[in-house]
Amino acid sequence: MKPASLSMKVSCCCGAAMETRALEEASPLLYHLTLACLACANWMAVSGRPEEIEPWVTRTLWSREARHELERLPPHIEPLVRGEVETYADKNGVCLITLSLLQEARNRGQVSWSREAGERLANIPAAVRAMAKIEIERMAIERGLPEVTESLMNEAKLKFLGMRG
Ligand SMILES: [Zn+2]
Repeated sequence: MKPASLSMKVSCCCGAAMETRALEEASPLLYHLTLACLACANWMAVSGRPEEIEPWVTRTLWSREARHELERLPPHIEPLVRGEVETYADKNGVCLITLSLLQEARNRGQVSWSREAGERLANIPAAVRAMAKIEIERMAIERGLPEVTESLMNEAKLKFLGMRG
């Protein structure tokens, strides 16, 4: 959790507190944040670099893009991923859940590797191994698989070869 002293308070002209309502990641370098007053219909937008916008966000808020990614998941794993990402954000003292935080949280220790799949991963050239690991784990998470198996690796291999055309 963020210490209270770091929480910024924004007041509406009516006197009520304004709350962060939505965040749009226009690009990795430009965020648009919307704040709204709960007492009247007033709202405002703040745009800037991520490090300028993040301090405005003082409660858990998913960016539109991160929420969209979450909603693309199969319904039975969506609540699991949502809970794990929010726990991960909380542990790291982050309120704003962006696409990059979502990927970071989803790829961290949520998928195990079978012994055979782990051995095959070790044989992948070092230059592409880290990327391959992230991609294969993402495939496993999207399918709700708790473990990377050899058959998933075969599928991933076909996908990567296909991507290279
Ligand atoms: Zn107001």
